[in-house]
Amino acid sequence: MEYKDTLNLPRTDFAMKADLVAREPQRLDQWRSAGLYARIQAARAGAEKFVLHDGPPFANGDVHIGTALNKILKDILIKYKTLRGFNAPYIPGWDCHGLPIEFKVSQDMRKAGDTSADAATIRKACEDYARKFIDLQRTQFKRLGVLGDWEHPYLTLNKEYEADELRLFADIVAQGFVYRGKKPVYWSIPCRTALAEAEVEYADHVSQSVFVKFPVVGEPNTFVVIWTTTPWTLPANLAVAYNDKFPYVKVTVGGEHFLVFQGLLPAVAQKCGWTTFSQEPFPTEKLAALHYQHPFCNRTGRLFAAEFVTSDTGTGFVHIAPGHGLDDYNLGRQNGLPIYSPVNDDGAFAYSGELPVEQQMPAELLGKAILEKHGKSEANEAVLHLLRERHALLQQEDFHHSYPHCWRSKTPVIFRAMDQWFIKIDLARANVAAGVPPDGEKPTLTREASLAGASFKTPGTDPGGRMPPSTAGGTPAATKEPGHTFRQQALAEIDRVKWIPEWGVNRIKGAVQTRPDWCISRQRTWGVPIPAFYDAQGEPVLDAQIVRNTAGLIEQHGSNVWFEKSAAELWALVKPAGWAGPEAAAKSNDTLDVWIDSGSSSRAVLMRRAELQHVVGPAAGRSSAEETGRLPIAQWQADVYLEGSDQHRGWFQSSLLLSLAGNGAAPYKTVLTHGFMVDADREKISKSKQAAYDKPQTAEAYVKKYGADVVRLWVASQDYRNDIVVSEERINKVGETYRGIRNALRYQLSNLHDFDPATQTVPDNQLTGLDRWILGEFSKLETEVIAAYEQYEFHVVYQKVSQFIAVELSSIYHDVIKDRLYTDAANSPRRRSTQTALHRLVTGLCQMLAPILAFTADEAWEFVPGKKTGSVHEAKWEPTLFSRTPEETFNWGRLFAFRVGALPGLEALRQNKSIGKSLEAKVVATGDAETLAPVVKLSGDFQELMGVSQFTFEIAGEPGKQGINFGYSRVDANRQKCERCWHWETDIGQKAEHPTLCGRCVEAVKSFKA
Ligand SMILES: [Zn+2]
Repeated sequence: MEYKDTLNLPRTDFAMKADLVAREPQRLDQWRSAGLYARIQAARAGAEKFVLHDGPPFANGDVHIGTALNKILKDILIKYKTLRGFNAPYIPGWDCHGLPIEFKVSQDMRKAGDTSADAATIRKACEDYARKFIDLQRTQFKRLGVLGDWEHPYLTLNKEYEADELRLFADIVAQGFVYRGKKPVYWSIPCRTALAEAEVEYADHVSQSVFVKFPVVGEPNTFVVIWTTTPWTLPANLAVAYNDKFPYVKVTVGGEHFLVFQGLLPAVAQKCGWTTFSQEPFPTEKLAALHYQHPFCNRTGRLFAAEFVTSDTGTGFVHIAPGHGLDDYNLGRQNGLPIYSPVNDDGAFAYSGELPVEQQMPAELLGKAILEKHGKSEANEAVLHLLRERHALLQQEDFHHSYPHCWRSKTPVIFRAMDQWFIKIDLARANVAAGVPPDGEKPTLTREASLAGASFKTPGTDPGGRMPPSTAGGTPAATKEPGHTFRQQALAEIDRVKWIPEWGVNRIKGAVQTRPDWCISRQRTWGVPIPAFYDAQGEPVLDAQIVRNTAGLIEQHGSNVWFEKSAAELWALVKPAGWAGPEAAAKSNDTLDVWIDSGSSSRAVLMRRAELQHVVGPAAGRSSAEETGRLPIAQWQADVYLEGSDQHRGWFQSSLLLSLAGNGAAPYKTVLTHGFMVDADREKISKSKQAAYDKPQTAEAYVKKYGADVVRLWVASQDYRNDIVVSEERINKVGETYRGIRNALRYQLSNLHDFDPATQTVPDNQLTGLDRWILGEFSKLETEVIAAYEQYEFHVVYQKVSQFIAVELSSIYHDVIKDRLYTDAANSPRRRSTQTALHRLVTGLCQMLAPILAFTADEAWEFVPGKKTGSVHEAKWEPTLFSRTPEETFNWGRLFAFRVGALPGLEALRQNKSIGKSLEAKVVATGDAETLAPVVKLSGDFQELMGVSQFTFEIAGEPGKQGINFGYSRVDANRQKCERCWHWETDIGQKAEHPTLCGRCVEAVKSFKA
């Protein structure tokens, strides 16, 4: 018999080489054919719910690495909660409507020569396009290991979704939130549409800064000097604002007189090259009486006092175009000026109905385009030319500043007044208590009620809302409306939500505090129609019951019905019974802002999907469309929303405002935010800038190279509250950690091949000290890891687990136990004790790692003897605390401290060739009785920790004073090397049939079963 064949050598089929790229797809097939997600849901039926509501990605393009980060974080959280026994369903969603898809589809149609497609045809093509990318992204999300109800996602293009969205909208209409008004909105010229706040990005821009002379009527050679950075808005100038708290002066230069704010005179004089001039005070109170002649239009204007005129830039006079700026708009409204915006949908100058044609711009300006090409716009150039011709231009130069741009076309946006639908953010809410859903059945508000305050024919009523100043920087005035407004209600609701990280609360409060009324109408085709009509006079008709009736129609036929049927047909179908209002003559062609789509998911998903509802009483469960609006908040409010930090302006905000207005509460209890993927220069890697990168930024590129588990581990390793730097170096480093984890799992599994936990588990109190030590350490780790998961600090999980595996396991425990595992009799109590520990460790580690290493933990789980569930993701992670006495904890702590002190000496012995292996060494500890007590008590354990064949101790000195010293030498001469275990022992050859073995090995060989 070869003695080496009697060793209990490790063996396992859990492969050393991960080969994730090939192996992970096989596991996905396994999960699919087993119906794993459904099985988990069934197993957790009736358990406490944990609802993470998915924010829908846009159904366009491949899954970006940033989107993968978001989905992986969600999946980690859901898998963790599932392991801890919660019923944690995951219903993925997609945002399907919107400009980028319509843009692309229209482009493709034009390329194909089709320029005459009707709305229904374009919409069909958009739906096909969206569905194609939903399928593609679904495959890529699943490949990342994300488990969910992928066969039944929520899609904002589903007719049921569209219908619920309109029902929520109807409840908002019913309360008087929605009005139609002509206000300046962000307008993207290339995209030909109004833009939402969240669709505007700020970027550096060079504008034309000009100082312009406005002649004062009746005062020859006297001018008000204004400053602007948007010369193209001068044709729309209707007034000039000044600050009645400022002192003004009349400056005489040559034969001309200029009015400017005294405080800015030095700056203006320098810019305009006034070297010699005289000045005299100009009484501020006289400004209100002045009239000025427009520099190139045949009309005059007046001066109005306004607080927004600042003392830091310009001249102290601000050019006012009520159709092109928010301050301008508000000032114009206060003073009865028309909201005049002589710009058409193409972004070119055009006459407008607000003024007589003869008072409008010279004909030579008509048709000039505002959109810049190579930094210049036709409109600006033409206006500057006119000003020069008329000697009205004092100074012109380039002006660098941050300016709003369209998120899609990346071009500067313009502010342009046009008729749009708005949600009034400062709606008075005196009678609406938070938490009480609106009464959906009450007859609706009348058109008059909903539109009062929006019409310009009823001056004096403010349609509400403030937008940030449009042409200059600065912060808008805080809300000053007395009483209880919807904005105040929203701010109070924000305080009831938990925001993680904490700065999230300031970000969303900032967004809600400063936001203007919500412009909700878009002049696009691919979206949910606004079910409004116009009467014969062109007056809008929007009514909650009409909206509800339309919702019913759309639930049956889909929203195409609105675009396919004539106004008369639709009116006949949705006109409320007993309607006393005006008859419809035309239908609205506007669609709803896509943020209304995704923001309505509280109604269309949380209240609709029974599996997402908390059980709060016998009535919980699926509800009819009419009832959903009245479900108790505790039943549908989600536990967590988890999105990128840009969603404070976007989805977090739209969801909050819509749900609070229509459902009576925020849709979430906790909002978790992550940063963005950034490149090495800390530039945000964004989907719309994809073309700017050489390296691929799709999730697929990384998964194909590293495997999903390494990508997941990398995501977990980063503190996602900050931005995450994408670099190969970092991923490679995580790849090394992955290999360490895999090797540790493999080592544990390979030593459990002959272990049956049902019959061979050793009770805690009979485990060896070393095994009790590692289980005690593991129990500590488990507590810390669970705390980190509960705090959503996945990078702490990563740090703790990888540290434990590298130190406690790989460099200590796994190394020390090799000897007993391999050389003890297979069934010896000592080996079974260690196998008991290994079994607990591998079970615990698989569970602990399963949320992150979704594939590898499940692969390892297959090899865990006696496992109770088919997949680790079905397991219940119930950590058992392993407690040690304080004395035991102290003693083992000392043992490890002594070991650290003793190992260098042992190493030196090997270095000077006194010994070959540690097993040839003898270690002697000398010290006082008190210090030595732990090694006296646990001398066998200490010998094993040191990996030597002989250990003795000598007590000397005064207790507690002497400390400990180690001596090293070869083992005593009376010892011989055992052929099987290589220990140097005194009992070699005591059995004649095994003359070269030690006593322990004789026992092992006798009990060996080949
Ligand atoms: Zn032996």
